[in-house]
Amino acid sequence: MTLRHRIAGAAGLAVAVTVLIAAAAIFVAVRAQLHQQIDDALAARASELTTGEHRNPCAGGTARNRFPAPSSDRDDARFGGAEGYAQFVCADGTVVRPEPAVTTLPVSARAAALARAGRGESLASSDVGGTHVRVLTRGVGAGRGAVQVARPLTEVDHALRNVLLVLVVVAAAGVALAAALGAIVARAALAPVRRFMERGVDFVIRKTLPELVAGMNQLGGNLIDAAELEREVVARDRAIDNTFGKDAQVIAIRTARNYLGDKLIRVAKPHKILDPAAGPLIAVKLHVLTRKTLGGLQTDLSSRVLQPDGAPLPGVYAAGEVAGFGGGGVHGYRALEGTFLGGCIFSGRIAGREAARAIG
Ligand SMILES: Cc1cc2nc3c(=O)[nH]c(=O)nc-3n(C[C@H](O)[C@H](O)[C@H](O)COP(=O)(O)OP(=O)(O)OC[C@H]3O[C@@H](n4cnc5c(N)ncnc54)[C@H](O)[C@@H]3O)c2cc1C
Repeated sequence: MTLRHRIAGAAGLAVAVTVLIAAAAIFVAVRAQLHQQIDDALAARASELTTGEHRNPCAGGTARNRFPAPSSDRDDARFGGAEGYAQFVCADGTVVRPEPAVTTLPVSARAAALARAGRGESLASSDVGGTHVRVLTRGVGAGRGAVQVARPLTEVDHALRNVLLVLVVVAAAGVALAAALGAIVARAALAPVRRFMERGVDFVIRKTLPELVAGMNQLGGNLIDAAELEREVVARDRAIDNTFGKDAQVIAIRTARNYLGDKLIRVAKPHKILDPAAGPLIAVKLHVLTRKTLGGLQTDLSSRVLQPDGAPLPGVYAAGEVAGFGGGGVHGYRALEGTFLGGCIFSGRIAGREAARAIG
C-alpha cells in the first residue's frame, strides 16, 4: 500500500470510527432514555393499582373493575394504549384479567415465581401476539400474588427506528466525509514531494534502470557506470528475499518496523527497488555541504587570534566555528551534536567585549 493510501486510510478511518462510535452512543442513550420513561410509567401504574382505594382481586377485592378497558383491537390499544394493560397473578397461579380481556399477557416462570413469593420486581421486553411490549411484574405481598403492568413499545420502537435511520444517514455521510478528508489530507501531505518530483531540477524519474542511469549521467556528467549500479541494486534487492541478509539498510528498515506505530505510518514495507509495482525509479543529485568544521584559528580565552608562536595577532578576534570545534571549543574536545550554537554565540560575546575594551 502506498504512503498516500496509508495516510488517507488512517485519517479517514480515525474520523469514521469516531463518527460510528458517536452514532452508536447516541442511539444507546436515546433508547435508554425512552425505555426509562416507559419503565417509570409502568412503576407508577403498578403502585396505583396496589395502593390506596384499590384492593387485591386475588383476595376478592375490586381492583379488576379499575383495569383500563381496551377500546379497539389496534396493537397498542390491546395493551391499554398509553395507560397500559394490567393483570394480577395470584399466588396459586390464577390470572385475574380485566373484563372484557381483549388480550392475554403470558405469565413467564419468573413472573409466576414472583407471584408465589409475593415480593420482588422484574422488567422485561417481549413479543406478545406480534406486539412488542414492556412488562413490569411486581410482588404485592406474601400470599397476595403479583401485579403485571404492560405497555406497548410500538411508539418507542417507531421513534427509535427514526433515530436509527437519521444516525445511519449521518454516519454514512460522516464516513464519506472522512474518506474525502483522508484523500485531501494525503494529497496535501505529499504535495511537497510531488512538487519536487515534478519541478525539482535535481530529480531524475524514470521507469527502468538503464533509463535512470542515462538521466543521471545527463544531469551529473557521465559519472555512473550502468553495469556497476545494476549489480549493486540487484544485490540489494536479493536482501529483501533473505530474512537473514546482511544488508544494513534492509535490516534497519525491518528493525524500525518492529514498532507498530512506525510500521503503520512511518516506515514503508521494504520492497525491491526494481519491482515495477513500486516504481517509478527516482534519483536525486546531492549537493554536498559542510555541516560542522573543526575550526582553523587558535584563540585564547579573550577570543584573540594567536599566531604560530602563541603571541596574539594584534586587533584580530575570532568567534564561532572558525575559532574551534563546537564554537570556539567552549565545550571542549567532546562537544556533542546540537551544542554548537551556544558556543558560537558565547565566544562571539567574549570577542565583542574584548574588542570593545581594546579600543577603549
Ligand atoms: C545543517 C546544519 C544543522 C545544524 N544543526 C545544529 C543544531 O541543531 N544545533 C547546534 O547547536 N548547531 C547546529 N549546527 C551548527 C551551527 O549551525 C554552526 O556551528 C553555527 O551556526 C556556526 O556559527 P558561526 O557564526 O561560527 O558561522 P556561520 O553561522 O556559518 O556564520 C558565518 C557567516 O559568515 C558569512 N561569510 C562567509 N564568508 C564571508 C565573507 N567572505 N564575507 C562576509 N561574510 C562571509 C556567511 O555568509 C555566514 O553568514 C548545524 C549546522 C548545519 C550546517
